[in-house]
Amino acid sequence: MFKKLLFVLSLLTFSVSIGIAQTIENDFCGHRFEIEKNIQKNPNYLQWQNSLFQEAMQKFQEIESSKRKINSDTEYYEIKVVFHVLYNNTEQNINEAFIQDQMLVLNNAFRKKNGDTTRIRDIFKAIAADTRIQFVLADKDPQGNPTNGITRTPTSRTTFSINRIGQYSTDMKYTSRGGRNAWDPTKYLNIWVCNMRFPDQISMTLGFATPPTNAPNWDGFNATKDTTDPETGVVCHFSTIGRNHPQAINANVEAKTLVHEVGHFLGLRHTWGDGGGTAQGCNVDDGIMDTPNSRDRNYSCNNRPNTCNDAIDDKPDMTENYMDYALDNCSAMFTAQQAFMMRFVLNKLRTGLPFRKINFDTIPDFVKVILYPNPTFNNQNTNILIESPNNNEDFIASMIDMNGKQIFELNLLSNSKSNLPTAVLANGIYFILVREKESGKIISKQKLLIN
Ligand SMILES: [Zn+2]
Repeated sequence: MFKKLLFVLSLLTFSVSIGIAQTIENDFCGHRFEIEKNIQKNPNYLQWQNSLFQEAMQKFQEIESSKRKINSDTEYYEIKVVFHVLYNNTEQNINEAFIQDQMLVLNNAFRKKNGDTTRIRDIFKAIAADTRIQFVLADKDPQGNPTNGITRTPTSRTTFSINRIGQYSTDMKYTSRGGRNAWDPTKYLNIWVCNMRFPDQISMTLGFATPPTNAPNWDGFNATKDTTDPETGVVCHFSTIGRNHPQAINANVEAKTLVHEVGHFLGLRHTWGDGGGTAQGCNVDDGIMDTPNSRDRNYSCNNRPNTCNDAIDDKPDMTENYMDYALDNCSAMFTAQQAFMMRFVLNKLRTGLPFRKINFDTIPDFVKVILYPNPTFNNQNTNILIESPNNNEDFIASMIDMNGKQIFELNLLSNSKSNLPTAVLANGIYFILVREKESGKIISKQKLLIN
């Protein structure tokens, strides 16, 4: 912790003196760079990603409110993994024991079998989830030959970082550039392990993952195919693999970097909601309802801040979450909705990876609340539609601001579109609660973002 703090302070000093604070942050994870790359490929990427989250959260609520939910989503998914070890010296050619240990940590984290769930505060224990996703080293290579799920490739490259602030090339993913070509990314989770240190670095990327997209060539946003992009997968600095690695960086000795990166690979954002490049603050959300809103990354769990006041169920920042930035000795959980999001992505966009899968579209019909557009713009009203098997059911929608103040309440009928008068409201995050008029039962709780 002390070492880490010094590191952060020296970064701040440096960034002020050269005036590029925007680009220098203590980013151990390359997610921001990956999002920026995706936006360059397709300017509508964030819009598409937001709609993906909305669809997933909608499905989550449908299942939660379904009387038949016990039968709707019980499958376990197993994903075949290959580690591509790239080495310039013997230290980087990590021992298989580290990889075996990493697999154990990864599976324990995703299956909530990690012993450190005792670190989870009581307020979050109920939503800490078994994702029912697990990982196994591939036993056959793409040609059908037996394998231990590990390739080893000597390289002349001393590092795959390209500058002192932690930016990197993707050369590790190409045999022709000193790396190793992926195995079919629609069938295997490719994990490249290599040196990401740069001489005299001031910021270090420990790992990065390719977030889901929805088409091989990004030609429109209608296709829902598994990506065949040969860069699909996860990259980790060699010393993050396996617990108690002698070269571990910043006391991250519990092998949780890969857990975090596989979270991104399966669609998760950081808990502080960095969907838009360097954007942060209480108005930027991670798209997941059961992670408390937080202003920025947390680097430790020594403080337990509550950086944003949620109008409903206000809770402190979830430093226990694998998708925050706290050290390995803090993180111990995914939430129920994060777990659902990852399963949703496997069903929709990475369909070749799991051995077993279900089709969420077969979930039976029940009441569904649709807000659109969301995010919306100021000066614009928002539509709300409550779909139900029964016409003319009575519902009440309330809108609540970040301070918990109710702004308005409306009577609504099912299956007919209504307008929420949001045009006059200031930018920010609001909550829309919908309840049955007769019973008072809340059937939907959604965030509405005005920007
Ligand atoms: Zn990350």
